[in-house]
Amino acid sequence: MMTRRRMLALGAASAALLLAGDRVKGASAGAPHPLARGRAVIPTQNTSPSPTPTPTPAPPSPTPLPRRKEAVHRVHDVLPDAPPNAISLTIDDGPQPEWTPKMLDLLAEHDVKATFSLIGIQVKQYPKLAQRIVAEGHQLCNHTMNHPLGIASMSSRQVDREITEAHDRICDATGVVPKFFRSPGGAWSRAVFGSAARHGMLPIDWDIDPRDWSRPGTRHIKKSMLAAKGGDILLCHDGGGDRSETIKALGQVLPKLKARGLSFVLL
Ligand SMILES: [Zn+2]
Repeated sequence: MMTRRRMLALGAASAALLLAGDRVKGASAGAPHPLARGRAVIPTQNTSPSPTPTPTPAPPSPTPLPRRKEAVHRVHDVLPDAPPNAISLTIDDGPQPEWTPKMLDLLAEHDVKATFSLIGIQVKQYPKLAQRIVAEGHQLCNHTMNHPLGIASMSSRQVDREITEAHDRICDATGVVPKFFRSPGGAWSRAVFGSAARHGMLPIDWDIDPRDWSRPGTRHIKKSMLAAKGGDILLCHDGGGDRSETIKALGQVLPKLKARGLSFVLL
């Protein structure tokens, strides 16, 4: 009986370890995992001997996609059947307790659905905000765990950890498996495309960038966004600092773009 109970306990422990997957590695920040080389998604913690190791992403398991060589940046690359006047709004670097609620209120007021590129550590800190984004009908995009701007020169193990941890945080908080990945600063590499593909995510960039994160002034943000044409993916931010200019600009830009006949679609 004792032996059986002990076996069950051991089984549960190794199952928990497996389920935790890269989250366990992520918890020990900075400490290189001795077994994690290259494709870090492979569950190297598997304690049972296996002659043919099979790559198994952390649950819930997305369907891997082929590795791409470039990110998509047109609405019609994602939605080929969208009408020609379709445009899509992406909002990066949240969730953030001050600006994300303001952004959500604004989008609700103008009946616009958007794609939120979430940073994993912030999802961990503000899971309810991530849930609110989903509850209000918006789309989620993985934007890495820590937003490393040097991601393009990181090893594939480091890249995979950034992406897997964010993936797990987003799934845990919202139950949503993100279908899109946006690289911090739009910096791409073979490793980044590879990890996004293994996680079943389409890499996305943008066409219209008002550089609102740099606080260039409401006028500049408005002018840049009003240049949008059918098929464009628009970028702005709800995280990374004071976003009052972004909110103010969008309050005028959203109705103007709609009045011009452009139609916001969800990626
Ligand atoms: Zn970003």
